[in-house]
Formats: sequence, C-alpha cells, structure tokens
Amino acid sequence: MAKKCVDCGGKLELVKGAYKGIAYSAYRCTSCGEEIMDMEQADSFMKSAEKARQVTFSKWGQSLAVRIPAQVARRLGIKNKQTGKLFYEKNGFRIVPTPA
Ligand SMILES: [Zn+2]
Repeated sequence: MAKKCVDCGGKLELVKGAYKGIAYSAYRCTSCGEEIMDMEQADSFMKSAEKARQVTFSKWGQSLAVRIPAQVARRLGIKNKQTGKLFYEKNGFRIVPTPA
C-alpha cells in the first residue's frame, strides 16, 4: 500500500464512506482529498455492490412500503408478522428483524 498520494505526495488516511448507498473504505489524501482503494477495498466494494438490490417504495395508506424479496426473507429467516426495528441513518435507514 502506497503511503503517499500519487497526485500531490500528501499523506493518506483510512476513511469510510458510502457511494450510491454502498459502504466502502478507502485511503484519502489529507492534502488534495483524492480517494484511492487498494485491491482488497475495491473487491469488498464490488461484492457489496453486487449484493445491493433495487427496490421500489409503494404507497400503503399514508405510508410507504418496501417489498422484501422472498429469497432475502428466507435467507434472513424473516416470517410474516414478525417485528423489527427501524434505525435512521445519514442517507437512509436500516431494518433489523427482532429475533423470533
Ligand atoms: Zn493528494
């Protein structure tokens, strides 16, 4: 891993961010702000991007609902009427099923 920015020679620091909602880690130059990934970081980002699914928000009364694909629900063991917790995050939210 290079210790210096290839553009300006500045110092690199490890940062975490999100691009189009997909979390990543990279090295950011403290001088020019350029971000670079090593192969391991790029591979991790690609794997997360491949797992991301397109969903549609649909009106349900005054609220909006998201359909969870059956294979995702099965994989996570989520059953009809099971509860979960909604956590608000900077650019969206995360739902964690309450163990049945
Ligand atoms: Zn730089």
